[in-house]
Amino acid sequence: MGKGFFEVPIAINEPIKTYAPDSEERKEVLDTYKEMYHSTIEVPMYINGKDVKTNETGTMAPPHDHKHILGTYHKAEKKHIEEAISTALEARKKWAATPWEQRAAIFLRAAELIAGPYRAKINAATMLAQSKTIHQAEIDSACELIDFLRFNVQYMTEIYSEQPESTSGAWNRLEYRPLEGFIYAITPFNFTAIAGNLPSSAALMGNVAIWKPSDSQVYSAKVVLDVFKEAGVPDGVINMVMGDPEMITDTILDSPDFSGLHFTGSTHVFKDLWKKIGMNIHNYKTYPRIVGETGGKDFIVAHKTSHPKQVATAITRGAFEFQGQKCSAASRCYIPKSIWPEVEKFVKEDVSSFKMGSPEDMSNFITAVIHEGSFNKLASYIDQAKKDPEAEIITGGGYDKSKGYFIEPTVIKTSDPQYTTMCTELFGPVVTIYVYEDETWEDTLKLVDNTSEYALTGAVFSEDRYAMETAVRILENAAGNFYINDKPTGAVVGQQPFGGARASGTNDKAGSKLNLYRWVSPRMVKETFVSPTDYRYPFLG
Ligand code: NAD
Repeated sequence: MGKGFFEVPIAINEPIKTYAPDSEERKEVLDTYKEMYHSTIEVPMYINGKDVKTNETGTMAPPHDHKHILGTYHKAEKKHIEEAISTALEARKKWAATPWEQRAAIFLRAAELIAGPYRAKINAATMLAQSKTIHQAEIDSACELIDFLRFNVQYMTEIYSEQPESTSGAWNRLEYRPLEGFIYAITPFNFTAIAGNLPSSAALMGNVAIWKPSDSQVYSAKVVLDVFKEAGVPDGVINMVMGDPEMITDTILDSPDFSGLHFTGSTHVFKDLWKKIGMNIHNYKTYPRIVGETGGKDFIVAHKTSHPKQVATAITRGAFEFQGQKCSAASRCYIPKSIWPEVEKFVKEDVSSFKMGSPEDMSNFITAVIHEGSFNKLASYIDQAKKDPEAEIITGGGYDKSKGYFIEPTVIKTSDPQYTTMCTELFGPVVTIYVYEDETWEDTLKLVDNTSEYALTGAVFSEDRYAMETAVRILENAAGNFYINDKPTGAVVGQQPFGGARASGTNDKAGSKLNLYRWVSPRMVKETFVSPTDYRYPFLG
């Protein structure tokens, strides 16, 4: 930027549309959904601005209607990944030198394309690919992705304006260079917004990226890619590849130019990736940045002074929206004995009122889980709970995969606070309740802190300020996103930067400046106006 200190539009959160009956947006998204459902598409890879097709393909189907084919996507061979690396590095030369306002304009444009002409399509694609209800699709693929794009542009300018002190004799300038090399972005199935954000946040800061979406999200990833293309992301800056994750990863991590991993997904995959990077560390030209947001075993703890109806609502929304497939979903709850009967009554009432089925029927609150592997895993935990004496299923427990991967929202009550479903991330519509003695508040908080390896989100309900203060203190390291008298899900970009520590990730807080710092390598430039000509200092006399 040589000709002005430009100010970017102030980022505001995209308003959430309601999709109420008879609304224009509801009609538009349903029409788009039907049109997409009744046609098939082919998703090529996208390398250096070209569509790349191969001999190996996978199929795409809606989880709620798994026999219905939406299309196919192409899978990489090793040579495609090598080509993506070499062409991305070539593209980097121009992109890294592109003035920031040009990069900002591209991603602000992407935000407006999603807010406007692509909104119905990206939402319908997310409903089809990931079985999200329209509300869940709207807050993810439309609003959150728009917010990521707008806020990141603003954060970028804030970072660039952070400059050191200078004196009259020397001007100190910090340049926020992109990393030297390329970024590998690996994204999960559960958020279209995350899929868009991981490659684009790094690209915004001047990096080039190779993006591998989840096999279960390729259908909506394609819409994100189309938006990036239309917004003007130059060839080679964001490349999308699909296929065998091991082969793709091994090829990428073998490259001496690999300079950063932007990952969201499960903990064990991330730990293995970290290990592989460590094994290759002597080959890299630079120490790679490793950013990973991973699993959770998120809690709700209620104090005896909390309101049973509020606690129950937090459980039913926090545990079951999007079938519990949010990394932040409540999956273990600690409820005091005195209020449990009321909480139980309200939870059962809520769950029995849920409708389950296709997201096309907008009266459904619950749809299908993502794939057969997830369905089978959840069914086996439910079957085990039916047998175990320390577990009791108080509502739900049914499942059926004949048409879609449907698991009934299930509440397990356990007498053992270390019962397997209190500790293991299941990633589905299953929540486990442990009822504790009212007078053991502090011990219960310590139990919450020690039960799981994760530390992503957690919520505490209490009307007693001293009890709340105790919880805030004891649970200091138990969650990266901590909620007081609210459910533990639903973080909003710009309002609640998101991420957890311990086994939940590197806590680099997507949707905040902290994340963007990871994609730059600052260069300090000191310019002295009149250079000294004598080595002697006055003290030498
Ligand atoms: P996953 O780990 O199965 O897959 C994530 C990505 O990693 C996919 O693109 C997948 O293809 C890829 N992958 C799988 N095996 C790989 C390998 N061996 N090498 C390289 N890449 C590999 O996760 P998922 O089922 O897509 O998503 C659910 C998980 O993501 C949950 O654990 C959830 O908690 C977590 N998640 C965390 C956050 C967060 O912000 N902390 C957000 C969303 C999801």
